[in-house]
Amino acid sequence: MSAPETPQRPVPNSGVLEIAAYVPGKSKAKAGVKLHKLSSNESPLGASPAAIEAYKAEAETLEFYPDGASTELRKAIAEAHGLNPDNLICGNGSDELLGLLAHIYLKPGDEAIFTQHGFLVYKIQILANDAVPVVAPETDLTANVDAILERVTERTKMVFLANPNNPTGTYLPESEVKRLHAGLPKNVLLVIDAAYAEYVRRNDYSAGVELVSDNENVVMTRTFSKIHGLAALRIGWMYGPAHIVDALNRVRGPFNLNSAAISAGSAAIRDRRHVDEAALFNEQWVPVVSNALNGIGLKVTPSVGNFILIHFPDDDPAHSAEAADAWLTDRGYVLRAVAAYGLPNALRMSIGSAEANEGVIAALTEFMGRA
Ligand SMILES: *Cc1c(COP(=O)(O)O)cnc(C)c1O
Repeated sequence: MSAPETPQRPVPNSGVLEIAAYVPGKSKAKAGVKLHKLSSNESPLGASPAAIEAYKAEAETLEFYPDGASTELRKAIAEAHGLNPDNLICGNGSDELLGLLAHIYLKPGDEAIFTQHGFLVYKIQILANDAVPVVAPETDLTANVDAILERVTERTKMVFLANPNNPTGTYLPESEVKRLHAGLPKNVLLVIDAAYAEYVRRNDYSAGVELVSDNENVVMTRTFSKIHGLAALRIGWMYGPAHIVDALNRVRGPFNLNSAAISAGSAAIRDRRHVDEAALFNEQWVPVVSNALNGIGLKVTPSVGNFILIHFPDDDPAHSAEAADAWLTDRGYVLRAVAAYGLPNALRMSIGSAEANEGVIAALTEFMGRA
């Protein structure tokens, strides 16, 4: 037997080469057409004016390192949500926190479970750590607790649950998330990604605060990219038990949030009126757009988020999701293709401005031959 040959160049972990790189939502329309970007669930109301002011003020002190502990931001989040700031950690987007969790709690060969149409970042982070992605089938485009629990083995270390989920817009009620947690061994970390929690208007929903507070193996991640309209600044946060927050603090970059993010984020979360306005705007528009599209023969998955999943007919190539995507893009409406999520004949549309929403309805009415 010959010794394994020494590679002639550096070689990444094997899982890395299995990753299908994340493709962000498109942000270009045809030249000369007004762009309505409805592809990344950004807020049509933009950021709070107070957050924009705070951002600008930071320009005066760019020579200084930011506060590595994001103290002001954690304090603002803690006040807004009634949490202990010691149990909070901020990230460069919640994506960073999801990556840190996978890095810290997964080793090669470990298994991590996520659901069939779950957010793609989970699979990327699992593979990046040479762990094994395990997919739990969904029922009616909704996470299925039994299907997740059936897939738990001795090697399972993490379960990722987006609640509500992107791109489906569906959610699990609090009772189901609790049942999921109750069925997991104590060494399995349940990650509840509640990026869209602020939009949900359902009495049986909970973002997961209580489950985190009462247990040692649950964390909840949140973001400023959606309702706070600060996607450009990359701000996320996690609420978790002290031992998990401590582990992430050891591994994260010492200055993982920049000073503009800390200041603007703090101002944004203190502007409750802006948050309420964004939630109300969304609450008004989701049914309007969903019902209008139903009226022209398109199925829309009922959504509790700030986006909707539109299904195109399977037996009619002229009216496929791909054809609709091209039709809309030509007119400046950039939606999100979701084939990578196992939804080849659907498009995800972020709820946009009134003009954008009405424009998509009109364009799809024409596309479906109902004009
Ligand atoms: C948009 C989104 C996030 C937010 O990611 P950031 O890195 O904070 O911008 C997280 N999870 C899901 C499911 C999302 O859709």
